[in-house]
Amino acid sequence: MNRPNIVVLGAGYGGMITTAKLQKMLGSNEANITLVNKHNYHYQTTWLHENAAGTLHHDRTRIKISDVINFNRVNFVQDTVVGLDPSSKKIQLENGELTYDYLVVGLGFEAATFGIQGLKEHAFTISNINAARLIREHIEYNFARYNNEKEERQDLLNIVVGGAGFTGIEFVGEIANKVPELCKEYDIPREKVRIINVEAAPTVLPGFDEELVEYAMNLLEGKGVEFKVGTMIKEVEEHKILVEKDEQQEEIPTNTVVWAAGVRGNSLVEEAGFETNRGRVPVRDDLRPNGYDDVFIVGDCALIMNPENDRPYPPTAQIAIQEAETTARNVKKIVNGEDNLESFKPDLKGTVASLGEGQAIGVVFGDKKLFGWTASVMKKIIDNRYLLKLGGIGLLLKKGKFNIFTK
Ligand code: FAD
Ligand code: NAD
Repeated sequence: MNRPNIVVLGAGYGGMITTAKLQKMLGSNEANITLVNKHNYHYQTTWLHENAAGTLHHDRTRIKISDVINFNRVNFVQDTVVGLDPSSKKIQLENGELTYDYLVVGLGFEAATFGIQGLKEHAFTISNINAARLIREHIEYNFARYNNEKEERQDLLNIVVGGAGFTGIEFVGEIANKVPELCKEYDIPREKVRIINVEAAPTVLPGFDEELVEYAMNLLEGKGVEFKVGTMIKEVEEHKILVEKDEQQEEIPTNTVVWAAGVRGNSLVEEAGFETNRGRVPVRDDLRPNGYDDVFIVGDCALIMNPENDRPYPPTAQIAIQEAETTARNVKKIVNGEDNLESFKPDLKGTVASLGEGQAIGVVFGDKKLFGWTASVMKKIIDNRYLLKLGGIGLLLKKGKFNIFTK
């Protein structure tokens, strides 16, 4: 085969690291590399809750793809993927079509809505830069409206967050910091604003260390967050939400429902005909799906079982980055005619979740628990380490989080 065509779909953690590695590992005479992404920027999904709350500007979160990828070496196509056909090795884009010899799919996640009525129409999700910017603007607009209405409209000031997993908790931590500023700006007494976090499981952050969960709840309640645990979101309407606990239903007036209650793989992979489980494609040890030796799947679109507990590894940036590194090495091997592909072995360093400025919780290096400021510094170290890995010292200096006392 003359210079094979390698196509990478999506410039998230998985797609960007794969492409950045491949551009270093393969000479231009060895393969053509094409990267397809909706936008001309990469964003750090792990910072989107800050953009959505308005505590960090989205330009801090996004990175021009050209700042990392050499467009003389990689053919960058800014377009939206609308279909994949692995049997004919074709990718349909909104504005054209691509063919590939080897494909890397890194199209990320979308919200899992579990068929809940009204969710798609009326709830917001923290899923990309545009969605985060919309949440920020929407909350601010509702605050601005409050003193322009004839009647007191509590729905304008109630912010309901569905799900107290890591995304929900990180968002309520940020919005709880932002609300006092918005109250001052729009002359609204702080006690009139409610931040309500609804979680179906009996506890927030189900499955996480109990001591850290208690720390997080106390801290967030101290900042005015109300938790409704053991409570299911049943239905969302334009100006209210219906929740249920112990078979008792309650309506909460709200114009703002942020749905952070679960993710699935991009529906394009299911539509492509790959076998899926909750929208994620089970992959073999070398990250290729069954039946397709020319396709690799990385990040939130891929499903890999953890043999230690027989459950899938959670979809995280940490895993997406590591999968991308293995994939780049495996693609190089295939291009070089080697068939001893590497098996993916995750090296989990832990989990750190932010609770708003200067506060976080985490478990790192096996069982070391971190609280408060120390954990928040660790979170910044993790974020900065990624920037260094992706774009070297230049990118780190441009986009890194260095002030350990503020953002
Ligand atoms: P993504 O990062 O979602 O990237 C997908 C890319 O594909 C995007 O650039 C998108 O624009 C592009 N794309 C999508 N559809 C199309 C299309 N049709 N055509 C063209 N391009 C397309 N994980 C951690 O490990 N640590 C954390 O601290 C952490 N914090 C998080 C905080 C929040 C608020 C959220 C929502 C998630 C967090 N996660 C965290 C999870 C983590 O962000 C995801 O697991 C990770 O982003 C998955 O990476 P990915 O490369 O699969 O996809
Ligand atoms: P999740 O699936 O981890 O949590 C969703 C939560 O919503 C669960 O606790 C679930 O019980 C609850 N829920 C589901 N349906 C509900 C309903 N109808 N009503 C009320 N509650 C409901 O999803 P997530 O928090 O978006 O996280 C997605 C992935 O991203 C995970 O792998 C997570 O580890 C990762 N992540 C990591 C970090 C971090 O490491 N700091 C931050 C954010 C996300």
